Amino acid sequence: MNEYKQITMTETGLVEKAFDESAISNEFLLQDRIQKIKQIINKYGEDNFSVSFSGGKDSTVMSALIDMALPGNKIPRVYADTGIELKMVRDFVFDLKKDDDRIVVIRPSVPIKQMLERDGYPFKSKGHSEVVERYKRRGKTDGVKQYLGEREDKAPWSSQKSCPAILKYQFTEDFDLKISDKCCLNMKEKPLRKWQKENNRPYAIVGLMQAEGGRRSNAKCLAYQGKKLKAFQPLVAVSKEWEEWFIREHSIRICDIYKPPYNFKRTGCKGCPFAVELQDELDTLEEFFPNERKQCEIIWKPVYEEYRRIGYRLKPVASESDGKQMSLFEENDEISFTS
Ligand code: SF4
Repeated sequence: MNEYKQITMTETGLVEKAFDESAISNEFLLQDRIQKIKQIINKYGEDNFSVSFSGGKDSTVMSALIDMALPGNKIPRVYADTGIELKMVRDFVFDLKKDDDRIVVIRPSVPIKQMLERDGYPFKSKGHSEVVERYKRRGKTDGVKQYLGEREDKAPWSSQKSCPAILKYQFTEDFDLKISDKCCLNMKEKPLRKWQKENNRPYAIVGLMQAEGGRRSNAKCLAYQGKKLKAFQPLVAVSKEWEEWFIREHSIRICDIYKPPYNFKRTGCKGCPFAVELQDELDTLEEFFPNERKQCEIIWKPVYEEYRRIGYRLKPVASESDGKQMSLFEENDEISFTS
């Protein structure tokens, strides 16, 4: 790595300070993001924005960046209290709220369990869940056939991935687990949209990074719906490494769940069946927050049972004595939910 030296004259003589190349480019990116935030928020008007604030690392960094760009701003930080947030992260948000009246707490209109039973459970991914739900409603449309690899021609309008062989049984009459992609919509997107409308703040500032991959790799700094601006995503251009540098360099207060002994890498909804590394996530929860681990078994019960039955994402829970599946906790264990 290249090293640069800055020489400054002080009262005690010449002082030499070394900079490495990465620190300079990190600083450059920081100034670039600050300028971008100033430019966009001033252009569209501070009163039209709100920040989607989850208490996770990305939204905490984004909130700090906005404060650096626009000191004294009054942009609300909107937190969706869904009942499936990690308790430690939720506590962090409520603790911040004591000294920051910009933090606003919103809640979905229906409790999670009730909503899942009514609208369907998430399974594998948003894309997969949406196609299964479409199949249940409309049968084997061209799009469904394409997902199942039953069409020779690849429709030009679809960039959909193909269904893993292990999940094709879900496209039959007999499969009766209710699946849909509505969980994110009902738990987070709808309550946020409702709040935005009631408070006349049409633009959300979202801490989304291209570096996280998947659907996010095509994310743009400004996201439009038709010709209308919907979201401003100032973190799209930064990496996880940059984020760590920023937190260190500017002593940003983040939730302790990211620090030892917990060392969480991600803090989305607990036990979400969309998590590719779900088993690892549950194992980590078991180690540090066993009560929340148990909540996951209750909330996502039908999905976890199906994952275990087909050997997908979750390993079977073996009994110590006879190899049969056993409950992860006793029937009368007391489980407290956060909301
Ligand atoms: S991330 Fe998972 S648990 Fe959270 S709202 Fe979306 S589907 Fe539901």
